[in-house]
Amino acid sequence: MSLENYSQVLQAAQEYGATLVAVSKTYEWSDIQPIYDSGQRILGENKVQEILRKKESLPEDIEWHLIGHLQSNKAKKIVGQVSLIQSVDSLKLLNVLQNQSDKKKVVTRCLLQIHIAQEESKSGMDTATLQEILSNYDQGLYPHIKLEGLMGMGTLTSDQNLTRKEYQELRRIYESCQKHIPDFTTLSMGMSSDYKIALDQGSTMIRVGSLIFGNRNYT
Ligand SMILES: *Cc1c(COP(=O)(O)O)cnc(C)c1O
Repeated sequence: MSLENYSQVLQAAQEYGATLVAVSKTYEWSDIQPIYDSGQRILGENKVQEILRKKESLPEDIEWHLIGHLQSNKAKKIVGQVSLIQSVDSLKLLNVLQNQSDKKKVVTRCLLQIHIAQEESKSGMDTATLQEILSNYDQGLYPHIKLEGLMGMGTLTSDQNLTRKEYQELRRIYESCQKHIPDFTTLSMGMSSDYKIALDQGSTMIRVGSLIFGNRNYT
């Protein structure tokens, strides 16, 4: 892990008034503690089991964000456990989250994940689904959900122009949503390789992992 890289990323985020989510997936406390001690409280994880396990032993004031694809059958486990679900990628999942939040008598903060990458394998909804959700939301169909903005993952590419265009497009969609929903205040885009481009294109939240923690070992 690199405190120096952490400081640089944090400073860039702060210059743009953006929030830094430190993506700690696959990393344990020994790597997380240095940035926690520096004041970092928002951590991003992509797996339900991993968040629940880490939550048990790590400080209570950490705000956990789920940033990975959530299967509907795991929604029950995560509702009430995280501060923000960034990866709501379908109408079906949102309905399940509404039902589970209703049962637990909580309001679940969510971002809608929009498909902007060229890879079909990346999750995210299309804009037609987004429109349908916003219209449902307007009609009060999700009383236990608070929609706070959008999240997107760009194409994995070294073509910076493509990345810029994709983030620009997401920003455009975000601004059009804001006209209807004043609560939309978060645009989550930008990772280790492209957070500077994302900030330039109007990101309000960057999700940075490997640049801070080093390359991950998936086992
Ligand atoms: C892993 C991950 C990140 C962070 O990626 P890095 O390249 O390690 O910065 C950001 N967003 C999502 C959704 C991720 O799964």
